[in-house]
Amino acid sequence: MTDQLEFGPRTGEVLGSLTLDEKAAISAGSGFFTMRGVPRLGIPDWGTTDGPNGARGSSFLGSGESKATCLPSGSALGATWNPDLVEALGHVLGKETRTKACRVLLAPTVNLHRSPLAGRNFECFSEDPLLSGVLAAAYIRGVQAEGVMTTVKHFVGNEAETDRATSNSVIDERALRELYLVPFEYAVRQGSTLGIMTSYNRVNGGYCTEHRWLLNDILRGEWGFQGLVMTDWMAGADTVASADAGLDVEMPGGDRAFGSKLAAAVRDGRVSETALDLMAGRVLTVFERLNAWNDEPVTEQSIDVPEHRVLVHRASAESMVLYRNEPVDGVPVLPLDVAAIRSVALIGPNAGRTQIMGGGSANLRPFHRTSPLDAVRARLGDRLEIVHEAGCNIDKLAPLLNGAEIVAPNGEQGFLVEVFETLDWTGEPTGTSTRDTSRLLFGDEPLLGRTLDTFSMRATTTFTPAESGRHTFELVQASPSRVLLDGVVVIDGIADPPGPGSAFFGFGSAPATADIELTAGQEYRLVVEMVAAEKRMFVGLDLRVAREPKADALERAVAAAAAADVAIVVVGTNDDWETEGEDRTSLALPGEQDALVAAVVAANPRTVVVVNTGSPVLMPWADEVPAVLQSWLGGQEMAHALVDVLIGDSDPGGRLPTTFPRRIEHTPSFGNFPGDNGAVHYGEGIFIGYRWYDSRHLPVLWPFGHGLSYTTFEVGAPVPSTTSAAVGSALTVEVPVTNTGDRRGSHVVQCYLRPHRSRIVRPEKELKAFAKVSLEPGESTTVTLRLDERAFAYWDPAQPEWPALQEHAADTIPWLQAETRRTEPGWTVEPGHYDIVIANSVADVVHVVTVELTER
Ligand code: BGC
Repeated sequence: MTDQLEFGPRTGEVLGSLTLDEKAAISAGSGFFTMRGVPRLGIPDWGTTDGPNGARGSSFLGSGESKATCLPSGSALGATWNPDLVEALGHVLGKETRTKACRVLLAPTVNLHRSPLAGRNFECFSEDPLLSGVLAAAYIRGVQAEGVMTTVKHFVGNEAETDRATSNSVIDERALRELYLVPFEYAVRQGSTLGIMTSYNRVNGGYCTEHRWLLNDILRGEWGFQGLVMTDWMAGADTVASADAGLDVEMPGGDRAFGSKLAAAVRDGRVSETALDLMAGRVLTVFERLNAWNDEPVTEQSIDVPEHRVLVHRASAESMVLYRNEPVDGVPVLPLDVAAIRSVALIGPNAGRTQIMGGGSANLRPFHRTSPLDAVRARLGDRLEIVHEAGCNIDKLAPLLNGAEIVAPNGEQGFLVEVFETLDWTGEPTGTSTRDTSRLLFGDEPLLGRTLDTFSMRATTTFTPAESGRHTFELVQASPSRVLLDGVVVIDGIADPPGPGSAFFGFGSAPATADIELTAGQEYRLVVEMVAAEKRMFVGLDLRVAREPKADALERAVAAAAAADVAIVVVGTNDDWETEGEDRTSLALPGEQDALVAAVVAANPRTVVVVNTGSPVLMPWADEVPAVLQSWLGGQEMAHALVDVLIGDSDPGGRLPTTFPRRIEHTPSFGNFPGDNGAVHYGEGIFIGYRWYDSRHLPVLWPFGHGLSYTTFEVGAPVPSTTSAAVGSALTVEVPVTNTGDRRGSHVVQCYLRPHRSRIVRPEKELKAFAKVSLEPGESTTVTLRLDERAFAYWDPAQPEWPALQEHAADTIPWLQAETRRTEPGWTVEPGHYDIVIANSVADVVHVVTVELTER
């Protein structure tokens, strides 16, 4: 056990006075989202909240009492290439975490985009370890400056969701060292994170919760990590193996392996009390450093801060990637010249819906939900005629009710929720509130002012359907529930409970459905009643409503496009397609979206396609559409930022943090994703993302680093601090950049290294430094990029048996004696020539300058 940790002074003082049980209690959560302090000494429990695109507080899966600022998701932040901005967002997150009465933010997610199909890619920054690491460190610095611990997750090898609780990520050490560990290493060394969350999966056979080599040798030993290591939620841990490996806390509460189980293991000698002291000492020290030992109980709040909105709005615009902007009649389609057009057709399944985040634990209840249609109408509705057609349907699950169709009796949009202490809705409600969607979950939060373990609940709304026809109501319940329409029970999950299903991480039922004919514009009283007769992990339900598909949806969209001056098609996914717990199975946009885009652009050449996804998708129509823009799952201000970019109030500031491939068969993990029989072989080794496509000269749809600006930049010749230096030296490279266009804009200087020769295989080139600049027209600046020893290094897995092989062959092949090989693995820099490649994207090289590293 690495034990060079220095405990905080107060920790050192109290540790000796704690009983064995008190020390062991600290090692397990006290509730679902709380860590345990020491009640006898007045050291409180500490609240935790997800993470990463907001501090959601006690709301869960987008439902609950608590609201939060919804930031752009991880891949959108990756596209900003802007650590200063991400650090500023970290402050927002830290501040909001405190308003949620929490000291721990379960974030950031820094696994890499190994396959474009991985369900949680939207949460992760990039396919590149350097970009991920630099942004992670910035994020952490911002959050922790507000007195909040980050738990960087999921350590490590969690690049797929399929079978995530048991799957074995088989990763060679070189790929681990050069790729997957790097963002965590940055988080520790540059970000000084106080927390790490282990992943559910195994790495090379061993569960990460029990992985001594990862937790003790690398994290604590090599990187000098001084904080605490916690499990992911409900992840299996082994009392003795995990304590020995360096795990400190099991989450959530429940004492599955730690807590009282750990106390017993110490009592019977399976775990030493010294090890227990270290575990408790580390946790107490972290909270001592955060000055959180004297926290008074505070009430969770949802404070909508205007400055937070402004920053999040800016971040969303800075994340948008303009792929293509070709002229129509001699003029690029974007930015739209609003003075020259009279009508816009806003088309697509995501035009009228608000798809701003992915699904799973990252999902939260935002301060507002604004669709692109809402934002375009709000900004341009007085100047332009705006028509909307969805064009097709992409529902994976029937959608939840939200928006203007549901109005609570108090006049607010949503459901009026009443909670009763009884189990049959009798008596006075103990509290009421409004919920804005038909996901009605009730978590750990003080429920409407009271913490009730058992209760009944009634949610009431007036439902005014927008369309006539068959409506399929679908109830998925974690607690027995029923649905009443105009006083008639139409689904009864209380009297006739449906069997188990996969929703709510397996705690939800299979859907119970009812088909009902409804008339557009008519008001229906819709009531949902639920009984929570026992305290369970998931309390609540989803009521979803599917509408009969419109047979002429495509024709209507085409007609609308043909009649308008400009067609804007918002295509994409949603939080059922991109979610924790499930990987996608296809790279194609769901539904008939490709056919929709092709038909719209054929009807109106002045078409803009907005791609509203968190991960790569195919765009078979890309060559036909003059303007294509990526808006990501861009957070609550996405729609407003999108309007800014469309009309040129903002420059599209994003550059791709991940490659968009042409075919799934070209992707590096193809054949090894999501694995067979629970094993995920990282067979591509170090060739993740662009390292693969670039080295193999494979065509891609959009290369890593790509993104256009509305202005133009001239990137001058790079000037290295020296062209010859000894191995081990750090170099700097100065690169002049000028905005040569006529509007303000931003540019990312990307610096890749390309070794001329190498003893072992290396990618064609790798990103080693970058800088983002924002310049006024005519303005110039010089960026300084730093290339330290590690930038030139590879991890040599070594050949321990080399001396024996050499001896064996020496008689017949004497020149073998001259060969030197490493016999122990390690970072290696070879003398020789290296190209410093300055580029606009991995595929668009602007300058190359060669430097030589000489023998040390
Ligand atoms: C997720 C974590 C999350 C935790 C708590 C798990 O299912 O994998 O990322 O922080 O739940 O919500």
